[in-house]
Amino acid sequence: MRPRRGNGRNAAAPAAAQDASRYRAPADSLIRAATRDSAAWNRMAELVDTFGPRFSGTPELERAIDWIVEQMKRDGLENVHTEPVMVPRWVRGQESATLLSPRNAELKDAMMLRRMQARGQRPRVRLRMGAQTLPDVQSRNVVAEIRGRERPEEVVVVGGHIGSWDITPGAMDDDGGCVASREAVRLMKALALRPRRTVRVVLWTNEENGIRRGNAYRDAHRAELPNHVLAIESDAGVFAPRGFSITATDAAFEAVRSIGRLLAPIGADSVGRGGSGADIGPIMALGAPGMGLEVDRSRYFWYHHTAADTLDKLDPREVARSVAATRLPGNSKRLPELSRCLDGTLPPRVPPLPRHSAELTPASGSAAAVQRGGPLPHYSGGRDSLRTIALRRPGARTAGKATHATNPCSRSTRTLDKTPSHAEISARAEISASTRGRF
Ligand SMILES: [Zn+2]
Repeated sequence: MRPRRGNGRNAAAPAAAQDASRYRAPADSLIRAATRDSAAWNRMAELVDTFGPRFSGTPELERAIDWIVEQMKRDGLENVHTEPVMVPRWVRGQESATLLSPRNAELKDAMMLRRMQARGQRPRVRLRMGAQTLPDVQSRNVVAEIRGRERPEEVVVVGGHIGSWDITPGAMDDDGGCVASREAVRLMKALALRPRRTVRVVLWTNEENGIRRGNAYRDAHRAELPNHVLAIESDAGVFAPRGFSITATDAAFEAVRSIGRLLAPIGADSVGRGGSGADIGPIMALGAPGMGLEVDRSRYFWYHHTAADTLDKLDPREVARSVAATRLPGNSKRLPELSRCLDGTLPPRVPPLPRHSAELTPASGSAAAVQRGGPLPHYSGGRDSLRTIALRRPGARTAGKATHATNPCSRSTRTLDKTPSHAEISARAEISASTRGRF
């Protein structure tokens, strides 16, 4: 019988600890292999050097996908294939951001807006945006596996997203997450450590401006979703790993915390609550437990979604440790406790994500935003030639959409998918404007 939510913690903990200790030796061998191996770093470098920005709908993204598929086949991964996804095609145009009030200047320092707002000022910004939204095009999710030795029908999904914004090579967002996922499975294969369950690498296309890839996977694999025991997303950079966050029951949380201790040698044994991600969101919404790799994010948003997201900002040793941290699940006998929730003893849906700190407010001939967060490093916008954004103080009366976030990339997609014309304001990242006047 599966433990009920809330009363499984005590019963689960000793068993989980005992179970996890059995994997000390293979865990240590994977950690050793990952931290001595420069393959992850070299592959990250080759991808960003060769293909550069990999925005949704571009030939560069598709060529990168072809290259990854070939590599996975050469690595001996199993069931390597792609799955079609129709993705939006958005093309950046002329754009500018000018501060109109309290003074006139080209807007470079987005944190300045935050400071003004905190002081009670009401800065006004003029955006010029000439982007276009073209018809959707077909892209692909990449899927590869190492089949489970005992329960091959049970699946642990692990992945990151291949695509990047159009202006950035996306070394940390999310070439690193993709490579960590791929290398974790490649190392299992290389070390002949066949997991108990099937570990399935899913590299997602079109993460940055839509959630089509997660929906496509959910729809293509709907019949086997009850056997998805865990979905892991790595999309917070590949800085020094700290551990994982997980959305699951108390019993499952204790099991993962126990397993997580195996990562103490690389300082990645912290396990907290709240794991999620934009890519795995659609299958989490149907009950799959979700887990996110947590890393030191102190530098992530210095470069996030900018042209400065390049490999030189990353440390090969930290990348190797992220690979090591990503390789773990799939073995533990306790994983079925993470699994599913369809018997009614576990919560049927993930709890709502915390409310994000940005809202959009359509205003007469303009757009207004409440912005309570961080920098606005770049602007990407719509066909409309001119918009004005007024930043209001927190708590001002607003209407429109709110985005959510627990993961640096998840916040954007919820809004974007509901607003196909590409609208986004995030506390930390960027303003993107609509081509259909909805912003
Ligand atoms: Zn990302």
